[in-house]
Amino acid sequence: MPKKEEKQELKFPQKLLRPIKGFLESEIVRLKKTEKGIRNGDPFSDPSRTLENSSEEDADEQIGHFEAQVKARFVTKQIVQLRRALSLLKIGKYGICEKCGKMIDTDRLSINPGVTICIKCEKERES
Ligand SMILES: [Zn+2]
Repeated sequence: MPKKEEKQELKFPQKLLRPIKGFLESEIVRLKKTEKGIRNGDPFSDPSRTLENSSEEDADEQIGHFEAQVKARFVTKQIVQLRRALSLLKIGKYGICEKCGKMIDTDRLSINPGVTICIKCEKERES
């Protein structure tokens, strides 16, 4: 990271950080509830589930279990990402790309306040 480019503009306005912090924290709480709901909806977590199902019931349960796992994994990923953004916020690095160290576009942050890398770096990662 080139040190000479470090300017005052890299700082995210303090007055904006407070609502963002609140948003991230409430999103984490909300997603945790969602995650719990998904896991509870998983047929494999049903205590009344019998092991002597017909193959048809078994297939339904397999699909339900698979769906729940995919959804839960997606939600867990979001939680991890939000926590990451929150910890960056706490050390005063919110809004700064983790990869290139440049300011993340505020439009991008307003759409998804949990992002921690800029659009350019994300595109590079995806390609
Ligand atoms: Zn970047």
